[in-house]
Amino acid sequence: MVDVKFDRYYRYADLTRIMQEFAAEYPNLVTVESIGKSYEGRDIWLATVTNKETGVDTDKPAIWVHGNIHASEVSTSSACLHLLYTLTQGYGNDDRVTQVLDTRVYYICPRLGPDGAEWALADKPIIRRSSTRPYPYNEDPIEGLVMQDMDDDGRILQMRIEDANGHWKAHSDEPRLMIRRDPDEYGGTYYRILTEGHIENYDGINIYPQKPKEGLDINRNYPANWRQDNEQPGAGPFPTSEPEVRAITLFVSSHSNICIATDLHTMSGVLLRPFANRPDTDMIGEDLWIYQKQGAKGKDIIGYPDMSIYHGFKYHPDTVISGGGDWMYEHLGIFYWAIEIWNPRQHAGIKVEKFIDWWREHPIEDDLKLLKWSDDELDGKGYIDWYQYDHPQLGKVELGGWDLLYAWRNPVPHMLEKEIEPFAQWFIWQGLTTPKLELYDLTVTALDGANYHIRMTVHNTGWLPSYCTKNALKKERVRPVIAEIELPDGAELKTGKQRMTLQQLEGRSHTPVSNVRSFGTANTADRTMVEWVVKALKGSEIQLIARHDRAGTVRETVILE
Ligand SMILES: [Zn+2]
Repeated sequence: MVDVKFDRYYRYADLTRIMQEFAAEYPNLVTVESIGKSYEGRDIWLATVTNKETGVDTDKPAIWVHGNIHASEVSTSSACLHLLYTLTQGYGNDDRVTQVLDTRVYYICPRLGPDGAEWALADKPIIRRSSTRPYPYNEDPIEGLVMQDMDDDGRILQMRIEDANGHWKAHSDEPRLMIRRDPDEYGGTYYRILTEGHIENYDGINIYPQKPKEGLDINRNYPANWRQDNEQPGAGPFPTSEPEVRAITLFVSSHSNICIATDLHTMSGVLLRPFANRPDTDMIGEDLWIYQKQGAKGKDIIGYPDMSIYHGFKYHPDTVISGGGDWMYEHLGIFYWAIEIWNPRQHAGIKVEKFIDWWREHPIEDDLKLLKWSDDELDGKGYIDWYQYDHPQLGKVELGGWDLLYAWRNPVPHMLEKEIEPFAQWFIWQGLTTPKLELYDLTVTALDGANYHIRMTVHNTGWLPSYCTKNALKKERVRPVIAEIELPDGAELKTGKQRMTLQQLEGRSHTPVSNVRSFGTANTADRTMVEWVVKALKGSEIQLIARHDRAGTVRETVILE
């Protein structure tokens, strides 16, 4: 049995051990390999999961899932391990899992950025956006507030300091809760609130958060719509400059069988899709319609709403995010999703309508519900009542407020498994929807003079079209079905070519809801056929191959009779 639990977060050594245990326990299903090394030299592990007896991974349509490109979002690694667990447990016991692993492959990369995650999971956590590589300058900062657990209680909270010009005051009914002063309000008891920490080179007046030495956001380092730091902070010196992003872009771009990819993040409780930088009206209609169906299914299974990054998840109304993992849709025409795991608001009974903008403005009732949730569900460990602390630089302050790293950044450990458990069902659904090339018919007819007529017909039995997205066609990232014939020595091809380019195969994803609409247009565009005439001796063995970049490969052996 693989020793993995879903009520805790694993550091790199344990993650490595768990991955290797899966490979050792399920040798017919799981292969673990390194797809590259991180900045600090850690292997970036990838699990390839498929039934090896039904063919190699590259002959099958694939689903890609990765987590933890952002350092502190460690529950995304757990969600990947949970998918690995669900697939291996389900094979042979659950018909859908058995079917999907017999016919498709999962590429699962739980921790794309192992260095930053290791800092986040340290006994004294250091929280960075992603990589631990110094950027843009290799020099230590010399001033500013550094986030730190000052009183050694294992938490990084807030510091509350009484200040006549403070922005905050205690809520009249719930004094633990700090709320904003009214615009015209003066003369009360007010506070300044800072993150728990120490101030380097404190001048007694100015306090600003220290800008970290490690300023990369490697999730902005992908090739599509990459922009320099002045427009997209943390994007790195050039696209794929960072080893972690280079590893994923090399693997994904060299595995044309990948049809759908999911990138795991925290937090917000939302399913995000392209575009990040422009509205849905710019998307090819057919791709948008499939995205909407995938999103509706994800929402149904997981309970998170689905939306485009541009329409639902902009950090500021005037700016867009770019250079992210949506590269996979933009350049490769792969369906790309980002799951933002976990939103305490959903658990606190708050109607979630806004995401990023909620942080700027929301009803105070939301905060009261969140405090009650911490009291009732987290045993009071999420929101801490203010307590005295003698700060070595600031004197008497109070520590308290939200323990954000515990309650917000990732699911609290005892709620982790329930939160991530539904994801695998969406990934299995995704797998079963991918295009799948299969043999429809094969006939061999003996003609005069040791000639044989061979006709092979293949079809797409999946829901998606063979090309997956129209954008893949537009970007010329996916070729039609290719058929090949391999003859033994002495045999001769009389009609047809050794390699023939056939056509793309439609699936069922664009079938209209009513068949009235298909009157006059219904067809067999999910099938294609190839014919050869060969001259060969009776008993000769001929190999036939039909392959498609995304839909997989069909291999047949014919013995001439
Ligand atoms: Zn993230």
